[in-house]
Amino acid sequence: MRIFDPHIHMSSRTTDDYAAMAEVGVRAIVEPAFWLGQPRTSAGSFLDYFDALVGWEPFRAAQFGIRHHCAIALNPKEANDPRCREVLPELPRYLAKDRVVAVGEVGDDSMTQEEDGVFAHQLELARGHELPVLVHTPHRDKETGTKRTLAVVRESGIAPERVIVDHLNELTVDMVAESGCWMAFSIYPDTKMDEPRMVAILRRHGLDRMLVNSAADWGRSDPLKTHATGRAMLTAGFTDDDVDQLLWRNPVAFFGQSGRLDLADDAVLPATFAGNTILRGPRPDGEAAG
Ligand SMILES: [Zn+2]
Repeated sequence: MRIFDPHIHMSSRTTDDYAAMAEVGVRAIVEPAFWLGQPRTSAGSFLDYFDALVGWEPFRAAQFGIRHHCAIALNPKEANDPRCREVLPELPRYLAKDRVVAVGEVGDDSMTQEEDGVFAHQLELARGHELPVLVHTPHRDKETGTKRTLAVVRESGIAPERVIVDHLNELTVDMVAESGCWMAFSIYPDTKMDEPRMVAILRRHGLDRMLVNSAADWGRSDPLKTHATGRAMLTAGFTDDDVDQLLWRNPVAFFGQSGRLDLADDAVLPATFAGNTILRGPRPDGEAAG
């Protein structure tokens, strides 16, 4: 099984997670920018984080043979804090970078006017930079939130095939299917969407414009949920080719719209990063890898 996880926050995960992901077939990921758990108090805190997403995290992932890409944005939660909104003028220089394959995650969280304004502004940035967009939908009052999300997307004039609407469930999938946007589902260990419910949705809706992710982050989550969904599909009678479409070809097709996906087997990162040597085993001098 080859797997592309289109939404996972690796900055909050360990190297053990990278190793386990590589083991089950995860070969490429997109890490959307989000919050740090602890609220940020200045724009500078975003810039260090964005630098880590375009530099340090791809280096960490490469040690496990995983291609790391990211999406850059001011996340919905922090759009409500005027100190955080000061990062907005800094976004364009990150959106020009090689490994940035989308604007995200953007959208509504508590559905405030501030969130809507920042969301609309970032959809405009996506159009200007010709990048696709990853949109988060609220976990509370999801139907109202998703309706509102689709209204903001429509008003922006961005092409729906360049938009992912994420964290969907049985109640919100139909309206997103009708909108022409891509439909994404986050599979969680014990809340919200799980594998059997996902398989039932795929049976009803088919595989076109469908994406599955682990959305693994600081909370209770599981970076192997993409693989678990693939296994559940096979058990339910889907073919290997169906699984490949959902877990690999669909995310490649969507993020390929950025023109920046790096999936060539021979494309490797430089051998050194910030003074560190990429270590694939014990160092020649016998010292342990640090
Ligand atoms: Zn997320």
